[in-house]
Amino acid sequence: PKIVIAIDGYSSCGKSTTAKAVAAKMNYGYIDTGAMYRAVTLFFLKERVSFTNQKEIEAALDRIHITFNFNARIGRNETCLNSLNVEEEIRTMYVSNQVSEVSAIPEVRWAMVAQQQKMGRRRGLVMDGRDIGTKVFPDAEVKVFMTADTYIRAKRRQQELLAKGELINLEDIIKNIEKRDLIDTTRSESPLVQAPDAILLDTSHMTIEEQVDWVIELADR
Ligand code: C5P
Repeated sequence: PKIVIAIDGYSSCGKSTTAKAVAAKMNYGYIDTGAMYRAVTLFFLKERVSFTNQKEIEAALDRIHITFNFNARIGRNETCLNSLNVEEEIRTMYVSNQVSEVSAIPEVRWAMVAQQQKMGRRRGLVMDGRDIGTKVFPDAEVKVFMTADTYIRAKRRQQELLAKGELINLEDIIKNIEKRDLIDTTRSESPLVQAPDAILLDTSHMTIEEQVDWVIELADR
């Protein structure tokens, strides 16, 4: 029977890379919930939506429509915000620097969680984020909680950004990772925490292949 695999954890531990590969190997769907919070953040920044005015936030959320469109040419999903492909833009430091503030807004979380639960009505899904095993799918059959050494995470993140032509110094990346982890773990609405039934995976000294095999083995049990 098809199941739900929830992958949560700190920023830049390799959650989405692992989740994507696990989904491909198992012929499952994959949903990157971080991309959704990033798309909301991009909208808020572009439209100068207040992070504190509840009315403004609610009105903005009503105007946000996020979809994942499969691009056959490159063989992967692209995040679309109101039909516009924002896949590249949501990964820039411009968005990364604000995304945790926006993700901490309760109204934003309620809207995203509701959408994610709808997307998961069909089982056979890998979903990665911060609150999947605790909030979105507390009944997920497999729950992984990922962590890794901060310096190693920052190094990987730097390589990723560099590959896309964004040259950011390590100090700034470490600051961003630490800031996001702090906001994510201390916010009032469904903070980032390891679910009691989640299994901890420290990816500091693992390759992507090892991480993928580890999750699939867990799912096969
Ligand atoms: O996974 P990614 O690093 O792209 O997520 C970006 C940010 O979105 C996280 O730092 C976190 O603040 C927020 N997020 C969240 N809940 C999720 C997924 C992401 O709050 N389920």
